[in-house]
Amino acid sequence: MSGPEQELQQLSDSGLLRTLRPLDSPSGPQVTRDGLPLWNFASNDYLGLANDPRLVAAFQEGLSLYGAGSAASRLITGTLPPHEHFEQQLAAAKLSEAALLFASGFATAIGVIPALVGKDDHVIVDKLSHASLIDGARLSGATLRVFPHNDVRRLGELLEKIRSKSTGRILILTESVFSMDGDLCPLSEIVELKDRFGAVLLLDEAHGFGILGPTGMGLAEELGLQDRIDFHMGTLSKAAGLSGAYIACSASWRDLLINRARSFIYSTAPPPALAHAASASLEIIQSGAELRNRLQENIRLLDTDAITPIIPKILGENEQVLAASTHLEEAGFLVPAIRYPTVPRGTARLRVSLSAAHPASAVSSLSEALHQLP
Ligand code: PMP
Repeated sequence: MSGPEQELQQLSDSGLLRTLRPLDSPSGPQVTRDGLPLWNFASNDYLGLANDPRLVAAFQEGLSLYGAGSAASRLITGTLPPHEHFEQQLAAAKLSEAALLFASGFATAIGVIPALVGKDDHVIVDKLSHASLIDGARLSGATLRVFPHNDVRRLGELLEKIRSKSTGRILILTESVFSMDGDLCPLSEIVELKDRFGAVLLLDEAHGFGILGPTGMGLAEELGLQDRIDFHMGTLSKAAGLSGAYIACSASWRDLLINRARSFIYSTAPPPALAHAASASLEIIQSGAELRNRLQENIRLLDTDAITPIIPKILGENEQVLAASTHLEEAGFLVPAIRYPTVPRGTARLRVSLSAAHPASAVSSLSEALHQLP
């Protein structure tokens, strides 16, 4: 058997090799790498909370109160007061009966989806959905159908066809704000369709949570549809500035997930201090209209057509986008080159992500640098 070198060479030859490049500084709007200061337009810290003193203090307080680790899975002895407190607080914010905390968004998707559907069921997923949703769907053993991005007509056709042949569960998976395009899903139409055909919807608000809606609960809140979503998924790793993730749903679905979601059952509970900090983050988000306004100002400053802090510049070829990213880094801006398989082949792009913490002057300088790209 040959080693990994040949595969690595193939990745490198096609411009697809990825390597780890650590920062020297904490995360924030400005970071340093290899000793050089860089404006950070690469992270998902949309509200600038990852290094917010209030959140750092809450984490420290959680450590003092509850120690460093949870020492067991949630079903054994890993459930502590901050886990339950956060879940109740989040459920109330989402207008859901209940919520469940997971270690990450990826763990949520691959635990929850197989708990909801199995081999006699169907999953219908938007083509541009995150890898975790696709992997969860594959793991479930349900029949997987994919609809073209945001194509509700095709989604309706698939629902009709499946429903005419099957009485099993049909689960629709999509994102509220698409992670690599920054566009929104047509949520109202999707909700109508799922109700019409007796399907259920899992909406991944990874990039909507903290950003959209009067209290930052996401696209469903913005559209007044919170009570029509069966499963609200979100992560605490982006606007919330931490890590961990959640599902908000009915109390009985939560009970079932506790019994069936393998990534929940067989994994150590997130540190209680993290859950404690998550409650503080949620409070900041709920009263964070000013942060959201600041973010919107930065969005408008960079691109008047953009509606979310994720602003892609699609260049096409891998080499082209790698060169552009390197060029920007030399000019003092960190903007990642996103390539296949994260995005479809031929759509390699720069992915700019904005934060409320970016000073307007940095956003303006980035705008100039983008316009001057060769
Ligand atoms: N869903 C989407 C849309 C994401 O962008 C991500 C993170 N890249 C995840 C889920 C996974 O979340 P986490 O980072 O908490 O594992």
